[in-house]
Amino acid sequence: MFIKKIGIDLGTCNSLVFSPKKGIVLQEPSVVAVSMDENRILAVGQEAKEMTGRTPDTIRVYRPLKDGVIADFRVTQAMISYFIKKVIPPYQFFKPELMISIPAGVTSTERRAVIEAALKAGAKQAFVAKEPILAAIGAGIPINSCSGNLIVDIGGGTSEVAVISLGGIVTVNSVRVAGDKIDLSISNFIKERHNLAIGEQTAEELKIKIGTTIPERSERSLDIRGRDLISGLPRTVKITSNEICQAIAEPLQEIMYAIKQVLRNTPPELAADIMDKGMVVSGGGALLKNIDKLISKSTGVPCYIAEEPLFCVAKGTGVVLENLDTYKRSIMSRK
Ligand code: ADP
Ligand code: MG
Repeated sequence: MFIKKIGIDLGTCNSLVFSPKKGIVLQEPSVVAVSMDENRILAVGQEAKEMTGRTPDTIRVYRPLKDGVIADFRVTQAMISYFIKKVIPPYQFFKPELMISIPAGVTSTERRAVIEAALKAGAKQAFVAKEPILAAIGAGIPINSCSGNLIVDIGGGTSEVAVISLGGIVTVNSVRVAGDKIDLSISNFIKERHNLAIGEQTAEELKIKIGTTIPERSERSLDIRGRDLISGLPRTVKITSNEICQAIAEPLQEIMYAIKQVLRNTPPELAADIMDKGMVVSGGGALLKNIDKLISKSTGVPCYIAEEPLFCVAKGTGVVLENLDTYKRSIMSRK
């Protein structure tokens, strides 16, 4: 089957590709491998991620979108063309239309760079739209209504908080505290409390398997392995969910602060709407246990987790692509 339209969520951790007829057609880590001497891109996505920690000095593996901004034009283009190639059948002769999500804080130069990269990568036409708006659409929020909606997207590198009304962003705040910082807090805590060095992946595993944002009465636990900082030898330690709760409290407070900041800067009419309807959380961070309870407790505003939070932005690109006329004026920049 031919694919005429493709939506891409270029996330700091994961990139997703959405095709309106098929749904999510690709989900891969936003990772690239570059050879240092020739400055050539060797691999993108899962293949690049598997090279992590296994490369010689001449190859660098990294996440180009780590802080939610696209720093390297060439790498962005390589990623986009990789995604197009992977989902378009080889016998398809015409170019697809592309819709790409960009962080709310990008400058117009960066926005043009993404469009440019998409066209060079083989798109017939390229559109970009801001991530919080796409997340809201993907979460099923009617963004074109004249009522205020608050969306919180907690990803890997950044957390974005936005109030949307009449199809546009009214107030927004983006902080570089999200999943990655939470993982880092976990490994620092375990270093201090247990004298154990653990890898990034173990920290993330602890967060996903036993993490909680508020203390639990019946604790869960997980045995993890790391390197003892004194003897230098491998050691196994049992970590409990309430320890993780304590470990991640600080980055979570920063996210709570970012949400409160947006609420403070929201015009009163819209704040009233939000109070009535509650806010919606999307992104991988929405899957952190009890995050909704923590948010409503610290802001006093009801809070709901979006359905399939990891897919909201990608689904949003699909909805927009299928209703280009409705959204053309309000949310898109085109070239
Ligand atoms: P981005 O849009 O920045 O690429 P994502 O929305 O894909 O980010 O979310 C990635 C983050 O979500 C990672 O930090 C990951 O550890 C975290 N995450 C994924 N699943 C869970 C889970 N079940 N519990 C807690 N965090 C999770
Ligand atoms: Mg995202």
